[in-house]
Amino acid sequence: MVDYIGVSDVQRLVGAQGPAVFIERLAAEIEADYRRWDAFDKSARVASHSPEGVIELMPTSDGQLYSFKYVNGHPKNTAAGLLTVTAFGVLADVATGYPLLLSELTVTTALRTAATSAMVARQLARPDSRVMALIGNGSQSEFQAIAFYRMLGIRELRLYDVDGAATAKLAANLADMAGMEDLRVVRCASTQEACQGADIITTVTADKRNAVILTPPMVRPGVHLNAVGGDCPGKTELHADVLVMPQVKVYVEYAPQSRIEGEIQQMPDDFPVTEIADVLRGRAPGRTSPTDITIFDSVGFALEDYSALRFLHQLLQEDSDHRRRIDLVPRLDDPKDLYGGTLAGAARRMPLRRAG
Ligand code: NAD
Repeated sequence: MVDYIGVSDVQRLVGAQGPAVFIERLAAEIEADYRRWDAFDKSARVASHSPEGVIELMPTSDGQLYSFKYVNGHPKNTAAGLLTVTAFGVLADVATGYPLLLSELTVTTALRTAATSAMVARQLARPDSRVMALIGNGSQSEFQAIAFYRMLGIRELRLYDVDGAATAKLAANLADMAGMEDLRVVRCASTQEACQGADIITTVTADKRNAVILTPPMVRPGVHLNAVGGDCPGKTELHADVLVMPQVKVYVEYAPQSRIEGEIQQMPDDFPVTEIADVLRGRAPGRTSPTDITIFDSVGFALEDYSALRFLHQLLQEDSDHRRRIDLVPRLDDPKDLYGGTLAGAARRMPLRRAG
């Protein structure tokens, strides 16, 4: 039997500790896995593009466990009442190849993306960062807000979305969160206004085009950019000139994938970037000056889903009263008798020969 985690299980497992603690613990798992970067099989994800969106497969393995995620990105879905991003994934045992866990990853992707963003910002943002602009107030935005409040000490959020209803939804959800009473929420009339005075700028918009959310005049020295929404060929958020501003340093998850999908797809193949694993392992510098402009060109890497699946699996095993298992793989008395152990009964009842 294979463990199963559905949306209701994630609600229970995250709810038991609260989303802020969950994100912080998951960030620690992701950071620990990035620190053993060399242990992982790495490949750019396999993408199937269509005019409206993309469907992707994201595999990785550390030789003990294997994982993959199925994920889509369809920015126009929300107009039809559907999510832009949905996902599910599998954790498997490398020794036998057997799947161990089938899990929802839609909510979990939002949690792991926020955890990764905050983990990386802790390395790159100025430690005195207290004000964050949050551009794009859709599904991912609350998760980003919680992560940066909890892990970075952000105490002012400056919100902007082209859809005022999305900003109203985010502001209402933030007002409803316990223990965030000292968070100042400012609704802004433009991206430019939201970026005023921001120490960190998070862009998490969805639009399948080379959008220009940020231009150089909006980016002051010392800022950290957490660019999350540009994650697909032809889908970016930063004006290319932002990437070549003085004192800009660009950080990525896995460079071969980011050169295809990230903001740096706008740059030549030899554009200098630093993989975040190298910063975490002390092999490359992060921010070296309070006036550096650091950019995390986030696209989402398979290792983050591996960490999330392993963490969820561990929590599920500790929660044995609610553990759900599904018959995804046959259980056989004789492993060579797949037929006898599964379909022999049906064949006994139904004739094999064609009528007539
Ligand atoms: P969503 O559709 O729920 O929300 C996106 C929001 O962006 C919408 O409210 C939309 O109105 C707003 N928007 C679009 N254009 C804008 C503009 N020019 N200025 C301001 N706001 C604008 O999508 P979501 O699930 O929140 O995902 C957001 C983005 O993040 C998507 O592009 C998705 O592919 C990406 N994403 C990246 C990662 C990663 O690991 N890097 C993970 C998950 C999602």
